[in-house]
Amino acid sequence: MRAISQSTAAAVIFSLLCGRQASAAPPPEHRYPGELALSVDLTDPGQKIFRVSERIPVKAGALTLYYPKWIPGEHSPSGTISAVTGLIITTDSGQRVQWRRDLDDMFALHLTVPSGAASLQLEFQLLSPGPGGDFGQSVSATDCIEDLEWNQVLFYPAGYPVRNIAVRPAVRLPAGWGYATALQPTGADHDATAFDAVSLEQLVDSPLIAGQYFARIDLAPGAAVPVHLDLVADHASDLKLTDAQLQAHRNLVTQAQALFGAQHYRHYDFLFTLSENTGHFGLEHSQSSDDRLFARFFTDPDTYLAGGGLLPHEYVHSWNGKFRRPAGLATPDFSVPMRGDLLWVYEGLTEYLGDVLTARSGIWTADQYREHLAAIAASLDHRPGRAWRDLQDTADAAQLLYYVPGEWVTWRRSVDYYEEGELIWLDVDTTIRELSAGRHSLDDFVRAFYGIDDGSFVVKPYSFEDIVKTLTAVQPHDWAAFLHSRLDSHDAPAPLAGITRGGWALSYSDVPSATFKARGKVRKYVNLCYSLGVMVSTSGSRDGELLDVLWNSPAFTAGLAPGMRLIAINGRKFDAERVDDDLRAAQAGHAPLEILVQNLDSYSTVKLDYHGGPMYPHLTAVAGSADRLDDIIAPKAALKASN
Ligand SMILES: [Zn+2]
Repeated sequence: MRAISQSTAAAVIFSLLCGRQASAAPPPEHRYPGELALSVDLTDPGQKIFRVSERIPVKAGALTLYYPKWIPGEHSPSGTISAVTGLIITTDSGQRVQWRRDLDDMFALHLTVPSGAASLQLEFQLLSPGPGGDFGQSVSATDCIEDLEWNQVLFYPAGYPVRNIAVRPAVRLPAGWGYATALQPTGADHDATAFDAVSLEQLVDSPLIAGQYFARIDLAPGAAVPVHLDLVADHASDLKLTDAQLQAHRNLVTQAQALFGAQHYRHYDFLFTLSENTGHFGLEHSQSSDDRLFARFFTDPDTYLAGGGLLPHEYVHSWNGKFRRPAGLATPDFSVPMRGDLLWVYEGLTEYLGDVLTARSGIWTADQYREHLAAIAASLDHRPGRAWRDLQDTADAAQLLYYVPGEWVTWRRSVDYYEEGELIWLDVDTTIRELSAGRHSLDDFVRAFYGIDDGSFVVKPYSFEDIVKTLTAVQPHDWAAFLHSRLDSHDAPAPLAGITRGGWALSYSDVPSATFKARGKVRKYVNLCYSLGVMVSTSGSRDGELLDVLWNSPAFTAGLAPGMRLIAINGRKFDAERVDDDLRAAQAGHAPLEILVQNLDSYSTVKLDYHGGPMYPHLTAVAGSADRLDDIIAPKAALKASN
């Protein structure tokens, strides 16, 4: 999973969410008897109301129905139960069945099935979320697009693993709309599109996108295992890729095959929503990913640069997160709490490999990859919160941190296991390369850990010890101590050894990189974190608002806080385009900057004694050092069998 927010002080965070997948056929005695039938009416995109009919075969007696609570990939009890309305339950003979919600678990309903009833019929609506939520709780429908997450439109009987409950799904779509999903269609019945029965686990792992403007692009022409890019947008003009963009995304497929050496999907679909009106995030699945970005991703170079890492990240999750999953996240059903302690592998390694593949495929150039690394290195190198909260606790507390406010992130810390995890895995990769004198790399670990059981869908859980064991087999070293020293660290600096061992150093100049500027432009902020210590909104009515203030920065010392608004600097109206000029003027003299600040209903002038000038992060080559970063992002030879 990857969220796209302004909550980090230095870089756009793309956090991603993750799911469950099909497993081996269960013994008959453990299967839920019968087959659930689920029909979702999506013909009302204007009002964004998803109408659900569900039939559940039952026996007489007490029954508990669950609504999915712990959403795979969201690592949180983030189910959308509060968006469910109008629930009426009847028997197959039409008798109304009273239900009562569990007083401790809001996602559980208790009822008694009357004697003689063979099935229950559930009728309800999902009021598709409005603005303001995150991930699955964010806007998922416009007048031209509908993104359907099945976990939002079903109840299921308690007492069985979700891989042992069979469901036959169907949808009704607006006339003329295109759609895509990893599910196998069985054909159209009147105005409904029906799909093969699948396990409940696989259904929730197979979202559907539909749109008035739709395109389906082959990313693996002629391959035995198909991969497609499926696009929906609010405007037909947003669906067009350049030849270079198409080739780069085809390279992504061949480079991923070359890296992993095995596949754990029968076919793969990037379900890509391009809209200013939906939420923006990615959620991984084993045979698809639910990717939602800005409308002009393919048509605006800055948007492409800022968001180019999303699809590679989600694709990597098919191997790291879906096929192989930390034991604490491989839960039997959606009511069981998930444990996030290994999210620095699940998300951190995915972030690392996803960005490496973004560069190997040519979505990013080598310069852009290094600019990205510089941005996250600077961000994590300004995290005084490491003094009280080590990286391990950010993973342990994941279910809290996805949903906390973005303010004071450098002290509170956020889901840092993504980007600090990426730095740690770069550290691991360069250490393997150094210790083995270039004979081995993290690619060997990846092949050994994920490139097994080709074609298998059976989830293989893992532990910390499994990671250490496989790393040791690739390159003998005390990997347990190596990892613990970074996960449990309370030191101020970020783990930047991978960058320096890669032949580069984090440095600052008064000119932002193209990547740094693109992120600010797309997300509508100006990032002054490494000079004044503030992130400032440039978004319309919020122009000048402090989105965050770095703990212990010059702005912090001067008393500034998130939510205040910069009105003027040195008597001139605040202008994000000219703020570097103000910083350079202060650099040349000794007088403090005088900043007029609005704090709710009050105005005051704050003196900010900063003379360091503009400061933006870069990577600078270290003279005489081997350029291991260049080796890491060099494309691999394509596997003959993969294409
Ligand atoms: Zn992710």
